[in-house]
Amino acid sequence: MMKVHTKRLTEKTQGRCDIIDITAKVQEQVQKEKIKRGLATLFVSGSTAALTTIEVEPGLVQDLKELLEKLIPSNKKYHHDDRWGDDNGFSHLRASLFGPSLQVPIDSGRLLLGTWQQIILVDFDNRPRTREVMVQIMGEID
Ligand code: ZN
Repeated sequence: MMKVHTKRLTEKTQGRCDIIDITAKVQEQVQKEKIKRGLATLFVSGSTAALTTIEVEPGLVQDLKELLEKLIPSNKKYHHDDRWGDDNGFSHLRASLFGPSLQVPIDSGRLLLGTWQQIILVDFDNRPRTREVMVQIMGEID
């Protein structure tokens, strides 16, 4: 039998490239709904946050922040800042680079992530935010 389950996760962030590991919360939904085979689609609403995967360890988290500072510096002036004055042009650009969504296949009731691969919400905005991540799980239940 097929099942579709939609869950809204609410996460408070500090902004400024704040990284939040949501892997356990997504896996919990898969188990709670007893979905054995299928697909989890995740989507963050908002144009200054993104979803991706990484090995969450302090060194790599620092490396990612440093890479983004090189690619899309936060102290540079962007056209968006002239237009809106909210000074978060860098936040929008970083979010677009990663994208707002992610899909992870499910088998045997588990997300098919690598051992050192976590799902992260990254908030690039220049201030603390409350984010909503939509988790939609589609698949077969026994
Ligand atoms: Zn803006």
